[in-house]
Amino acid sequence: MHKMPRAGILAPVSEWMISLKRIRQNLNKIVIMLGMTGLFSGFVWYGDWMDVQADEPVIVVIDPGHGGENLGAEYENYVEKEMTMIVADAMKEELEKYDGIQVYMTRYGDIETDMTLEERSEFAKSVNADFMFCLHFNMSEYHTLFGAECWISAFGEEYSKGYSFASVEMDLLQELGLYSRGIKTRLNKKGTDYYGIIRTATEREIPCVLIEHCHLDQENDKPFYDYDEKLKAFGKLDATAVAKYFHLRSEELGVDYSGYQNVEVPVPSGVVKPDSTETDVCMIEVLDQNMETGEVTVQVSAMDYDSGMLYYAYSYDNGETFSELQKWGDKSQDTITFTMQVPPHIVPQIVVNGYNGYDLYKTSNMISLPSMDYKTEEEIAEELARQEALESVAMEETPKKYKEVTYDVISEETAQDNMSLSYFLTVCGVCALLVLGMVYSMILILRSRKRRRRRRRY
Ligand SMILES: [Zn+2]
Repeated sequence: MHKMPRAGILAPVSEWMISLKRIRQNLNKIVIMLGMTGLFSGFVWYGDWMDVQADEPVIVVIDPGHGGENLGAEYENYVEKEMTMIVADAMKEELEKYDGIQVYMTRYGDIETDMTLEERSEFAKSVNADFMFCLHFNMSEYHTLFGAECWISAFGEEYSKGYSFASVEMDLLQELGLYSRGIKTRLNKKGTDYYGIIRTATEREIPCVLIEHCHLDQENDKPFYDYDEKLKAFGKLDATAVAKYFHLRSEELGVDYSGYQNVEVPVPSGVVKPDSTETDVCMIEVLDQNMETGEVTVQVSAMDYDSGMLYYAYSYDNGETFSELQKWGDKSQDTITFTMQVPPHIVPQIVVNGYNGYDLYKTSNMISLPSMDYKTEEEIAEELARQEALESVAMEETPKKYKEVTYDVISEETAQDNMSLSYFLTVCGVCALLVLGMVYSMILILRSRKRRRRRRRY
């Protein structure tokens, strides 16, 4: 057994000395023990503080874009301010099913007078918002663009938080089936955030994301907004993104996002500039030309060092006309291959426009190909139809024509036969007349002989 030193008032001085020596030997252990205790108490205190923090509800502001006289984008029967309101109402309703969240809206229903962007941000500030979500639908000048995108502040913590939330939002929008146009910043001429709502919110240190759900003027996106129920689905999706980002729980919905991992985005030291230059590289190569069908297989190698590739469009007439925009597809790939249909009887001159993440493009090299004289399906169909029409007309007209033809032929032959017949009949007639003449003269001779005999008798 190990002998423990006895420390006491009555203990002899030598034992005191030994104890002190031992304490000194174990001093570092004691320091470590004290340190550990301190640290543990710190954790307990921090945990309590976090619990207090967790009790504070998250405050979010939903901003349904536009309103009043400001209609936003308009196309066919779609009006942006009405669509954003439907999404916002659904988003609020869904978010309120979660615990620990307080939801405000910058407008409830349509508004009489236009609400400025400054007023909207000021409202968010007045309720002490942790985040503002601005709901929008997009439209492009030539109705060519499609897909969803998020705009965020180019500065500091608002950039970092904005990017982190937008990553959750974009993931969900892509899961829904929309094409991602990315998470982007945009600056005005003064070098501050271009979008007023983001600029004014950032000035008030409120993180703010402008969600452009999709394009309301494009066939590719139409299946996502053509019914109110689909707009409500956008609202639910936005709410789910918020719930994930803030690690919320909902008993009603039976979901718990407390373990959700947000994308960690470091706070940038400077401004995160948008891409202002066109695609860096865009080259094409023709892999195959099918002379029978007119199909041409093209490989595009394109790169954009700032914002990556987003779309491409192809042309067979050296850029006079282009196809609709096509998805770049896998954005991590620099090379894509596609097959295009080239019409016959022209000299194909192939070019491709490669678009970057900011819709800026570069036109590729041009490749001239030999003309293809295959028949298109339409041409084949037309030809068939023409043949059938001819045949049916022939069938209808054949008996008449045949008669005409035979009549004509017969009449020619008959003319010749008639000629020889009349000749024959004439000859016969002449012969008959001759025979008749001879018979008649014979009768006359015989009669005159009889008379002469009778005269001789008398
Ligand atoms: Zn808008």
